[in-house]
Amino acid sequence: MATFARRPERSSYDVIIIGGAIMGSSTAWFLTENKDFDGSVLVIERDPSYASCSTAHTNSCMRQQFSAALNVQISQFAAEFVKDLPERIGDARVPPQTIQNYGYLYLADTDAFAKTLRENQQVQLAQGAETEILSADEIKARYPFYAVDDIVAGSINRKDEGYWDGGTVFDWWRRSARERGVEYVDNEVVALSLNPGGTAVNSVTLASGEVISAGQVVNASGPRAARTARMAGIDVPVEPRKRFTWIFSAAEPLDRELPLTIDPSGVHVRQDGPQTYLAGCPADPDPAVAFDDFAMDHSRWESHVWPIIATRIPQFEAIRVITEWAGHYAYNTFDQNAILGPHTEIENFLFLNGFSGHGLQQSPAMGRGMAEWLTYGEYRALDLSPFNYARIPDNRPMLEKAVI
Ligand SMILES: Cc1cc2nc3c(=O)[nH]c(=O)nc-3n(C[C@H](O)[C@H](O)[C@H](O)COP(=O)(O)OP(=O)(O)OC[C@H]3O[C@@H](n4cnc5c(N)ncnc54)[C@H](O)[C@@H]3O)c2cc1C
Repeated sequence: MATFARRPERSSYDVIIIGGAIMGSSTAWFLTENKDFDGSVLVIERDPSYASCSTAHTNSCMRQQFSAALNVQISQFAAEFVKDLPERIGDARVPPQTIQNYGYLYLADTDAFAKTLRENQQVQLAQGAETEILSADEIKARYPFYAVDDIVAGSINRKDEGYWDGGTVFDWWRRSARERGVEYVDNEVVALSLNPGGTAVNSVTLASGEVISAGQVVNASGPRAARTARMAGIDVPVEPRKRFTWIFSAAEPLDRELPLTIDPSGVHVRQDGPQTYLAGCPADPDPAVAFDDFAMDHSRWESHVWPIIATRIPQFEAIRVITEWAGHYAYNTFDQNAILGPHTEIENFLFLNGFSGHGLQQSPAMGRGMAEWLTYGEYRALDLSPFNYARIPDNRPMLEKAVI
């Protein structure tokens, strides 16, 4: 197992990244890829076991079914990157990756939602996705195990949409970044110091007491994003929200692969292993929770999730829970979309936050974009400026209708 130093080797770095999970490591790795960047990079991670971060609790799926074209393009890059992982990392030790393309199946039980699915489909098709709109009968013909009496329509895309192994991609970003000279330390940032005008972060203070100077500072601290931003006197609308996951087996497994089915109730369920399934849902009510609160709400399974999935798929009357967990979304309460790039006044303090339920699949494009910003002060491959922080004080939400 990799060992991590507790103290940085130097007293000053060009880039300091606060948080070393998938977003921090993607950014660090893309910096090492950029031939125009030759600066020093320090990644500071408070928990090198990564046991409680969002990345460790994810359901690890990607989809092209978004309503905003930019979010579709971001997932397209994820698909390209994942399918080409060994070549992208440039290392023969990297195992080849696939995307298990069972697709997401959004089920609509109202005409209004069916209309939204059709509108979203047009956006997705224009970007090259293969989204189909299905009637209830067509859904039943393709997937006879569903009960569809209440369903008006559904949408599914089986191109680059389904499960992928985010853990392997994360491991290789981190490993490769370290081998290429990025320094990771096992420590916690507890304070940020600004210059006298309050226009730049000068240094970060670690729990162990060291003060480290920084050229640019990236906030990649997941559900703790607002806490980190407060250290610079800034507010960012991100809070930890609990999401539950269950893995179960069925007494009588389905005869074909189960798409990631988004029930109109908000519960989702998908194939996991050959004979196992994964279900998930939000907490209800859904307040901000403490950073260390990962308690399961067991009644949620018995009284909510199981009845819903057993109604939708009657074969799931007889199932057995194998394991379960609670994780935290870094929930953007403003518009559930990423918050990316510089603060409006403290321009060397960069947000990489608020990914809510779709950060894993956004990690390749966001890491690449952040590395471009750190190098050039602009985005190059894909214009990610619609995710800028300024939209929050300006009250211009970037609406995404397909949020899970
Ligand atoms: C149940 C669940 C299901 C999900 N399913 C999907 C999915 O199917 N597809 C998808 O795309 N996304 C999904 N997501 C979302 C996705 O997992 C996250 O958006 C993504 O992992 C966010 O990564 P991150 O690096 O920003 O945050 P995190 O993984 O939370 O990492 C932040 C890191 O910062 C560190 N840190 C915080 N503060 C400090 C500090 N002061 N000093 C040092 N270190 C600090 C933390 O220890 C942590 O390791 C899901 C999330 C959950 C919870």
